[in-house]
Amino acid sequence: MRMSQLFVPTLREVPAEAETISHQYLLRAGMIRRIAAGIYTYLPLAQRVLEKIEEIVREEMNKQGGQELKMPTLHPAELWQESSRWDAYGRELFRLRDRHERDYCLGPTHEEVITDLVRREVNSYRQLPLLLYQIQTKFRDEIRPRFGLMRGREFTMKDLYSFDRDQDGLDVSYQKMYDAYSAIFRRCALKFRVVEADTGAIGGTDSHEFIVVADTGEDEIIYCEACDYAANVERAVAALAGEEDTAEPLKDLKLASTPGMTSIDDVVSFLGTEPQRLLKTLVYLAIDGEAYKPVVVVLRGDREVNEIKLQNHLGCMHLALADAQTVEEITQAPVGFAGPVGLKDVRIIIDAEVPTVVNGICGANRADYHWINVNPQRDFPPAEIMDLRRVAAGDKCHFCGNPLKSDRGIEVGHIFKLGTKYSVAMDATFLDEAGRKKPMVMGCYGIGIPRTMAAAIEQNHDENGIIWPLSIAPYQVVIIPVNSKNAEHMELAEDLYTRMNRVGIEVVLDDRDERAGVKFNDADLIGFPLRLTLGPRSLKEGKVEIKDRATGKVTLVEIGEAVAVIKDRIEEMGKGWA
Ligand SMILES: [Zn+2]
Repeated sequence: MRMSQLFVPTLREVPAEAETISHQYLLRAGMIRRIAAGIYTYLPLAQRVLEKIEEIVREEMNKQGGQELKMPTLHPAELWQESSRWDAYGRELFRLRDRHERDYCLGPTHEEVITDLVRREVNSYRQLPLLLYQIQTKFRDEIRPRFGLMRGREFTMKDLYSFDRDQDGLDVSYQKMYDAYSAIFRRCALKFRVVEADTGAIGGTDSHEFIVVADTGEDEIIYCEACDYAANVERAVAALAGEEDTAEPLKDLKLASTPGMTSIDDVVSFLGTEPQRLLKTLVYLAIDGEAYKPVVVVLRGDREVNEIKLQNHLGCMHLALADAQTVEEITQAPVGFAGPVGLKDVRIIIDAEVPTVVNGICGANRADYHWINVNPQRDFPPAEIMDLRRVAAGDKCHFCGNPLKSDRGIEVGHIFKLGTKYSVAMDATFLDEAGRKKPMVMGCYGIGIPRTMAAAIEQNHDENGIIWPLSIAPYQVVIIPVNSKNAEHMELAEDLYTRMNRVGIEVVLDDRDERAGVKFNDADLIGFPLRLTLGPRSLKEGKVEIKDRATGKVTLVEIGEAVAVIKDRIEEMGKGWA
C-alpha cells in the first residue's frame, strides 16, 4: 500500500473527546471516528488490526473443536422472556418494536438464541459436546459510554457456547477455552493475567477473566506471587486478620461520650485507639424495582465494603447507601453514631473479620455516644457472617499468607461455567445413554475484539504513538524515502517496495511529497513495527537504515540485503508467540 493512497487521516492535536491513551491514539492515527456516543467507524488501519485479531481467535477456536456460525443481531423478546432476562437485563438492553407491535432487542449476548437453536436440533447424548461460536456485533445501551472502544454501545465480540452432557464434560470444554484464550493473548503478544471473576448478571459458578495488564485499566486485580492466586478485586478474598489479638481478656461494655465525633478518624483519635478496633456500621438499601429493604452492614474501620460481594449475597438488582433519614429511622440516632448493639427488626450482616475483634468500638445509636469494649460474639444481636471486605494490596493471601499485590488492567476475555441455568429455563434437554431426559450443561466464553485492540495500545505505546506487536500490526513495515524529490532514491524505494510485496511482507511505502519529519512522526504515531529509511547519507555508502519501533534500535544494512534482513527480523519477532 502507498501512503499517498491509504485512507489514514492522522491528527496532530489530541482530540478533546479522547479520555484514554488508546482512544487518543486511535483517533490521532486515523484508525477510528465517532459517529455518536459509544459508536465508531473503523477506518482501514483499524479494520486490518481487527481482522488479524479475529483470525488468531478463529484459529484457536477451531483448534479446540469450535465451529463457527452466525446468529442474528435482532432477537425476539419471547426468547429473552423465557430466560427471564427481558426484565432482569434492565436498561442496558436495546429494545425496539416492529410494525406489528412485536418486541425485539438488539443482542448484547446470545445465550438465548443459541440455546433455542440447540434445543431444537440436538436431542441425543451422541450429538454432544458441541462448541459453537460466532464473531459478531453486540449492542449494549451503556449508561455512560466512554474510553473510546473500551466501553462502546456497539462492538464486535467472539462468543462461544459449549453444550455438554454433564459437569465433567463442561470442565473439559472450559479447560479447552481457557487454553485457547491463553494462546490467543500470547499470540497477540499481550502481557495478561488470568483471574477468578465474579459471575454477575450472566449467572453460573466458575468464571475467569483474562486481563491485559495496563496502568490505565478500569479493573483492579489482586494476585499472590507465592502461590499463583489471582482474582478480580470484586471477588478477591484474603486471610482474616485479628486472630492474634484474641488473647486479650474481654472487658465490660461501656458507653463513652464522643461529642460530634462522626467520622472514623475522629473517633479513633478522640478515643486514642486504632481503626481496626472500630466496628464501622453502614446502612444499605437492597433495591428490587420499586421495593427496597434496609440492611445493616458491619466491618472493621480499616476495611472497605465490597459492594459486589454484598449485592451477590443479597441477590438484589441494585444496592445503595441509605439516606440520612433512613439511617435515623433504623438507628434512632444521627448519621455517624450507628452500631449493631441493640438493633432490632433489621437484617444485619457482619464481615467475617468482625467476630475476631476484641474490646472494639461502635456507635451507640445515640447522638454523641459510642460503645467501647464491644465484643461482637457477646454483644451483637444475631447476624449473618460473610466475607464482605474489599481486599487491597498488602493484605495477606488466604491460601499461603504472603502479602497480596495488585495491578490494574483491562478485561479482554471472560469465560463462564453457566451450568444448567439457561437449559433448564428454556428446556434444552437431551436423552442420555439410558434414555433419561437431562438438561444440557452449558458454558459461555467471550472476547471483545475492538477492546483487545485498544488494550494492546494501552499496554504498548510511548509519547510518540502506538507500538504494535508484530502479530496484530496493521502493516509490518514502512519504507520512508527521506528526500522524495530525488528520483533515484524514489526509484530505489519503489524497488524495495515491490520486492517486499513479492515475498509477502506487509509494507507501506510513504511516497508522499512531505518533509521527512512529517513521515517519521506519522510512522511512529501509527506504530509500524519496522521502519526502513532511505537517507541521503547512508545511501551514499550503499546502505539503508532499519529501525525497530519497540526498542528504537537502528541497524544499517546493505541495500541488496535489506529485504532479506527485514524478512528474517519479522520471522524472529513472530517467534515465541505462534
Ligand atoms: Zn498465596
